[in-house]
Amino acid sequence: MPTQPMLKFVKFDRDMPAKRIADERKRDFQEIYSEFAKEKAEEQSSRCSQCGVPFCQSHCPLHNNIPDWLHLTATGRLKEAYEVSQQTNTFPEICGRICPQDRLCEGNCVIEQSGHGTVTIGAVEKYITDLAWENGWVRPIQPSTDLDLTVGIIGAGPGGLAAAERLRAAGVKVCVYDRYDRAGGLLTYGIPGFKLEKDIVARRIGLCYELQNWRGFFFF
Ligand code: SF4
Repeated sequence: MPTQPMLKFVKFDRDMPAKRIADERKRDFQEIYSEFAKEKAEEQSSRCSQCGVPFCQSHCPLHNNIPDWLHLTATGRLKEAYEVSQQTNTFPEICGRICPQDRLCEGNCVIEQSGHGTVTIGAVEKYITDLAWENGWVRPIQPSTDLDLTVGIIGAGPGGLAAAERLRAAGVKVCVYDRYDRAGGLLTYGIPGFKLEKDIVARRIGLCYELQNWRGFFFF
């Protein structure tokens, strides 16, 4: 008889990736939490009860298809998990790190409400997207057609970058303008490195330069 891969909240407690030791952290400005190991990500994903009405998803501003990518992670289909997660989100590795999950998906998770402790959605999202980068699964969008249209976007923060990517996917050429000397906005200048290391932001911005017909950033 096939085994049930999900609903393991009755077997496993909620667990977060380990914090780096304080002695190490006080010598640098890098992120506090280490990464999940594969087995831990699968275990924590398997705690999800695959709700018919998934409050995690309805309370996510992006309506990320969280139950599906948790199921795919729990069953070891990690590339597919990443592909589902990035369909609704331009920056899943960044949201996994800095979203206020306690007020959104995790705070409204059904097993959190029933006292079992939420599924650690953000940490799993971070894990599968970092893995996708390591394995070369993150590729720039290729528009199927190029339109004779160019749009200028004011602001190279997360909103501007997300809009640029979606417009480029639709075949529109894009120029992004910003008053600072590099892209990222709040991600670069507002959020400290211990929450979001800057090479993570730079890696995502670098993907824009790989977009076919990318018109560029213009800094003033
Ligand atoms: S609300 Fe929690 S248990 Fe239900 S589908 Fe979402 S993550 Fe899984």
